[in-house]
Amino acid sequence: MRRRLAWQAARLHEIRAETATARTLVLDVPGWPGHLAGQHVDVRLTADDGYTAQRSYSLAAPADGERIELTVETVPDGEVSPYLTEVIEPGDQVEIRGPVGGWFVWRPESKAPVLLVGGGSGVVPLMAMIRARRQADSRVPFRLIYSLREPDRRYYAAELRRPEPGLDITHLYTRLAPPGTARPAGRITLADLAEGGWPADFAPDCYVCGSTGFVEAAADLLLALGHAPERIRTERFGPTGD
Ligand SMILES: Cc1cc2nc3c(=O)[nH]c(=O)nc-3n(C[C@H](O)[C@H](O)[C@H](O)COP(=O)(O)OP(=O)(O)OC[C@H]3O[C@@H](n4cnc5c(N)ncnc54)[C@H](O)[C@@H]3O)c2cc1C
Repeated sequence: MRRRLAWQAARLHEIRAETATARTLVLDVPGWPGHLAGQHVDVRLTADDGYTAQRSYSLAAPADGERIELTVETVPDGEVSPYLTEVIEPGDQVEIRGPVGGWFVWRPESKAPVLLVGGGSGVVPLMAMIRARRQADSRVPFRLIYSLREPDRRYYAAELRRPEPGLDITHLYTRLAPPGTARPAGRITLADLAEGGWPADFAPDCYVCGSTGFVEAAADLLLALGHAPERIRTERFGPTGD
């Protein structure tokens, strides 16, 4: 039986810039029940005239008691994301509902190697998995393939630059690669997944997240490399709403 989720108040504790267009929101949610890495919440905004808009956002980190983190990319002309990245201030309230999702999750007791494949803001739930692995002191080997437009779009840059035993990271740039990068800028390919991922016979659990186009392309490439369909979990960040 699925638990019926209720809306609850969340107060912005702190906001951090990840890039020029993305912000991490640290929210206090009284009575937060905890969550698994990979789950998301729905956020609801209500205007003075009673008009409401709601969108889904992945949880970016394991819960710290009643404190949760989201990372939101500004969609120009969007209804909700510009408010969350440019207008909201510490002390302001929004409503949230969650945690939501039971399939696109990584459990710290899992022993299978993990391949994370993220495009743009699709790295958010994958970062929650990396942080949950660290928090649990798990020795499970992780590989992250992070596709992004250009170096300035990198989320969690300082944290992901710190070496972490058992975590290998490959960056793929789609528009502009940093000087000296051997791989020319371009979309994710079979060779990228073969080089930066695990061989299919290691039977890794694969988590793929990003725009619908990115997720479909990456999942097809994983299948072509022989990864079993039941080991490929996907999350599409398409438009959401009421
Ligand atoms: C399960 C789930 C988790 C998500 N997690 C995150 C997250 O962690 N961080 C994050 O930034 N976003 C996330 N999203 C996307 C988020 O829910 C919104 O779709 C996004 O913030 C845009 O909302 P908006 O109200 O600003 O734009 P809207 O007013 O909904 O849309 C404005 C215009 O932008 C287009 N558009 C809407 N969403 C997108 C998109 N995602 N990409 C490209 N164009 C779009 C619309 O078609 C429309 O033309 C997630 C989506 C899902 C389904």
